[in-house]
Amino acid sequence: MDLVVKNGRIVDPSQKLDRVADILIRDGLIRTIGDGAFADVPVFDATGLIVAPGFFDIHVHLREPGTEEAETIATGGSAAVAGGFTAVAAMPNTNPPNDNPSITYYILSEARRSSPARVFPIGAITKEQKGEVLAEIGEMFEAGIAGISDDGKPVMNAQLFRLALEYAQMFDMPVIQHCEDLNLSKGGVMHEGIYSTRLGLKGIPAAAEETMVSRDITLTHMTHGKYHVAHLSTRGAVEIVREAKARGLRVSAEVTPHHFTLTDAAVADYDTNAKMNPPLRSADDVAAVVEAIKDGTIDAIASDHAPHHINLKMLEFDRAPFGITGLETAVGLALTKLQLPITRLVELLSINPQKIMKVKSWGLFEGSAADLTILDLKRSWTFDVHRSRSRSRNSPFHGWQLKGKAVATIVGGKVVYEDRA
Ligand SMILES: [Zn+2]
Repeated sequence: MDLVVKNGRIVDPSQKLDRVADILIRDGLIRTIGDGAFADVPVFDATGLIVAPGFFDIHVHLREPGTEEAETIATGGSAAVAGGFTAVAAMPNTNPPNDNPSITYYILSEARRSSPARVFPIGAITKEQKGEVLAEIGEMFEAGIAGISDDGKPVMNAQLFRLALEYAQMFDMPVIQHCEDLNLSKGGVMHEGIYSTRLGLKGIPAAAEETMVSRDITLTHMTHGKYHVAHLSTRGAVEIVREAKARGLRVSAEVTPHHFTLTDAAVADYDTNAKMNPPLRSADDVAAVVEAIKDGTIDAIASDHAPHHINLKMLEFDRAPFGITGLETAVGLALTKLQLPITRLVELLSINPQKIMKVKSWGLFEGSAADLTILDLKRSWTFDVHRSRSRSRNSPFHGWQLKGKAVATIVGGKVVYEDRA
């Protein structure tokens, strides 16, 4: 199937590309980038639009196997392409967790069958994510995982985390940590600060994240491992990562859109869609995170898409589960709230995510997979959670007016999502 993406502004900082041109796609691959007429080929008119290498959300919970009432690989993949993501990395905390190759194979085959987005499974670090013994990391790598993490939980045992950093190096995979000291965070449901005191809710101190990042960086230095901080949320964690990068350690970090758009003030009316882990932090933390996105300390934006069935989110604040959906709002929030140069945005959403994860990289070059995200920077739109493609509805962004949107998503040369004004 052939296609010409015509007259778009082609932006790929990894190829030092920023110009108006046509992309000819043949057999799912980029054939040429240039100008001129291609006879008898279907045309996607991208005049006035940005054409970027496919966006990659490296932190997504697809809930399958085990919690299909909240999300499936098919519905999560559909939400991904509607949000402009051609690929997602799926966290292993399914039921059963992805801690062995049979689950990895299942996710990959189900994704090939039903997901319009590419799915890269992340394997568990420890068996059943219990933090006791290493999972079958080598076997899962053979099966196709792109990194390891116990996300949802931290690896509290420092010796085990050291072994994971050493072992993952054999496969050049990142070790992705959910940074939370469980003793410091125990019983906490929101950020520990003025609001938690006022609301009478138990807080999770910033130190619960920062002590873990700090410990892990000591272990990264010791092992020369490849370490990635998931959903970084505090000023202190920003400073620790910044300093580690200055020392030349192989450390990377992602932030979520909710951590750069919302503060703990959003919890004031006990809205369970403001309950996530790590929690929404103080205004000062948000300012530090935004600055770190701009100065390059933060490498990637990832949604931490965490669908939950509505019955669970209707529980009282203390008892509701952590997490919100995010695949369809991430790009719009980044474009609306961050005011970044488009090249920097493409680095955060496509180029750097590919570098962090163990994947064969793609981009706007000849012979690359034709995975493209097409943006309209001027498009004003309102997010309506009731029209979400996710099976869940737990978003705090319902009704938000955003400017800038993914208006088409192309995977392997096929237009898998289109929303032209
Ligand atoms: Zn997490």
